[in-house]
Amino acid sequence: MQLQEHFNLKDLNTFGIEAKAKYFAEIREKKDLRDLISSGILTSESWLILGEGSNILFRGDYDGLILKTRLSGMTTEKCSEDQILVTAAAGESWHGLVMRCMDHNWGGIENLALIPGTVGAAPVQNIGAYGRELSEVLEYVDVIDLETGDEDRLDQKVCAFGYRDSLFKQPKGKKFFISSVTLRLTTKNHLINTSYGAISTVLMGQGVEQPTLQDVGRAVISIRKEKLPDPQKIGNAGSFFKNPVVDAALIESIQNQYSTLPFYKTENQQFKIPAAWLIETAGWKGKRLGNTGVHEKQALVLVNYGGATGEEILNLSQQIMDDVKTKFGVQLQREVQIAEGKSPK
Ligand SMILES: Cc1cc2nc3c(=O)[nH]c(=O)nc-3n(C[C@H](O)[C@H](O)[C@H](O)COP(=O)(O)OP(=O)(O)OC[C@H]3O[C@@H](n4cnc5c(N)ncnc54)[C@H](O)[C@@H]3O)c2cc1C
Repeated sequence: MQLQEHFNLKDLNTFGIEAKAKYFAEIREKKDLRDLISSGILTSESWLILGEGSNILFRGDYDGLILKTRLSGMTTEKCSEDQILVTAAAGESWHGLVMRCMDHNWGGIENLALIPGTVGAAPVQNIGAYGRELSEVLEYVDVIDLETGDEDRLDQKVCAFGYRDSLFKQPKGKKFFISSVTLRLTTKNHLINTSYGAISTVLMGQGVEQPTLQDVGRAVISIRKEKLPDPQKIGNAGSFFKNPVVDAALIESIQNQYSTLPFYKTENQQFKIPAAWLIETAGWKGKRLGNTGVHEKQALVLVNYGGATGEEILNLSQQIMDDVKTKFGVQLQREVQIAEGKSPK
C-alpha cells in the first residue's frame, strides 16, 4: 500500500469540490489497515474513511489521512428455506450489490436501488428510500477498530440504527472501519413494498398488478432517474438535510400560519415534516448564490454549479437553516457529513 501526499479529491466527492488530502491511502485488504496502525500514522494524524464521497462535504483541504475503501468481494450463506445471508465487502458499489441481488431474486433491498455510494458507508447513515431502510435487513457488520486493530462483529442492535443515524456517527463509533456488511435477504415469499412515493403509480401505468421484486427495483430506478440530479452532470450529495421531527405543539403553531403544512406521525407523539416543504415555502427552491444553489426541482438538494468551494455550500446550508428556524421555529439538521474525520489522540 502506497501513502500518497497532496492527493486531489475532486473526483472522489460527488459535490466535485476541489480539495486536497495531506495523505491518501487506498485500503484494498485488511492488512493495509493493520500496517497503517502499526506505522503510528493513525495516532499522529487526523483520518477520515472515504467511500464514494456521495454524502460528504469537504470544507477545504483535508489536513490528515484519507482512507479510501477499496475492499472487494461478496459471499453468501443459505440460512433457511427462504432466507440467505449475503456478505459484501465495504468497497463494493451499493447499487451494484442491489442489482446482483435482484438478478439472483434475493429480496429486501430493491427499494434502495440507485443510491450512490459504497456498501461500507450504507450502515453509517442507515440508508433509506422508498419506504425501506437498510437496518430492516442488516444482520451484522464486521469492523476493524482503528485504535487497537481489533476485529469485531457488531449485530443489528449494537449498530443503534435510527433515521439516517447509527453508532458510526457517534463519537464512540467513529473509530470503526466497516470492512463488510451482511444482509438477511429473502429467496422466496418476498415482502414487496410498493406503498411509498410513486412506485405503485409507475407499476399501475405498466399494467403490473402483482409486482416482483425486480418490478419494484426497476420502478424505483426509473423514478429516481427522473427526480434526482445526476452528480455526474451537476455536483450534489443528494438530500442535504434530514426531515425534522417535532412535537405536536410546534405542528399546531406552524399550522396557525400555514394550514397546508404536510406532516406524518412517527413514534412517541412526534411528527415528521418534509424538510423540502419548509425550504420551498421559505422561498429557497431554485435560488442561486454564486456558484452554489438549491436545485430547481429538489429543494432538499444543494448543488455546485461549478467551481463552488465547500465553505460556500456550507454557508448556503447555514443560511437556509437560520431562515427556516426564524420562519417556522424548526431546527433543520444536515444529513451530509462535514469532512472532519477523527482527530489524533
Ligand atoms: C444523487 C444522490 C442521491 C442520494 N440518495 C440517497 C437516498 O435515497 N437515501 C440515502 O440514505 N442516501 C442517499 N444519498 C446519500 C449517499 O448516497 C449515502 O449516504 C451513501 O451511503 C454514501 O456512501 P459513500 O460511499 O459515498 O460514503 P461517503 O460519502 O464516502 O462517506 C459517508 C460517511 O460514511 C463514512 N464511511 C464511509 N465508508 C465507511 C466505512 N467503510 N467504515 C466506516 N465509515 C465509513 C465516512 O467517513 C463518512 O462519514 C444520495 C446521494 C446522492 C449523491
